[in-house]
Amino acid sequence: NTFSIANLDRINVLGSGNGGTVFKVKDKTTSEIYALKKVKENIDSTSPGREIEILRMVNSPYVVKCHDIFQNPSGEVSILMEYMNLGTLESLSGVSENQLALMARQVLEGLNYLHEHKIVHRDIKPANLLRSSKEEVKIADFGVSKIVVKSFNKCNSFVGTYAYMSPERLDSEADGVTEEDKSNVYAGDIWSFGLTMLEILVGYYPMLPQGQKPDQAAIICAVCFGEPPKAPEECSTELKSFIDCCLRKKARERWTASQLLNHPFLLHQE
Ligand code: ATP
Ligand code: MG
Repeated sequence: NTFSIANLDRINVLGSGNGGTVFKVKDKTTSEIYALKKVKENIDSTSPGREIEILRMVNSPYVVKCHDIFQNPSGEVSILMEYMNLGTLESLSGVSENQLALMARQVLEGLNYLHEHKIVHRDIKPANLLRSSKEEVKIADFGVSKIVVKSFNKCNSFVGTYAYMSPERLDSEADGVTEEDKSNVYAGDIWSFGLTMLEILVGYYPMLPQGQKPDQAAIICAVCFGEPPKAPEECSTELKSFIDCCLRKKARERWTASQLLNHPFLLHQE
């Protein structure tokens, strides 16, 4: 399959963020709909080069598929992706336990795939998980992701959204953070995943009391010095345990993606 940028009609803007702007586009020949991300110029460590390198490697039904990458003579990069017609998980709240389990399983399959391929996503949050009307949920946005070369690679550098960042990434010098915690970079994705699942369950950013404005100081304080948030009391025992296994303050005590795929919360849903 070959694509050309000239053959893609822009329909509208789907969203934009730190990494660039994403358009809904239509292939003039086939009438197929895609998402086209125009990547912004190098901002610090988030170079389009790395995002592209990762997108070319990755091939999983749980990760948004990249069809082609264009680079125009002035160096501007555009990424042609599969279109996810229901948008991000941000728009979701108050989901049932069954729906949550369905989504959690798909995101964990995606994370398990990435971690097995030595890729840390580093920016798991509702805005970077996309849904389609085929009940699919997929991981998107590799703008700040990293390929782990050695276990002690500098993966703790401050990229991504601090609101979903694990305690050991926010403050690697805190009391009780061991070398083992710092080197277990994959556990950072699990914290972000757990917080994201809890947010779509309760309908608000769960590190802070409902209604409190999530400003930076309050968030950092809550993540670093507070107890991890829990699923509401009325939830099933399995769901409460599932959230607890993701949101362990010590990275070394958090479950891995492959362990979580076998957690009773996912096994006992149909
Ligand atoms: P961030 O601020 O998270 O770094 P970003 O600029 O890197 O954002 P993306 O997260 O890749 O960009 O995309 C921005 C927004 O565009 C998403 O939050 C989503 O609303 C929309 N979007 C991205 N990819 C797709 C897609 N494949 N299908 C539908 N919508 C998409
Ligand atoms: Mg994003």
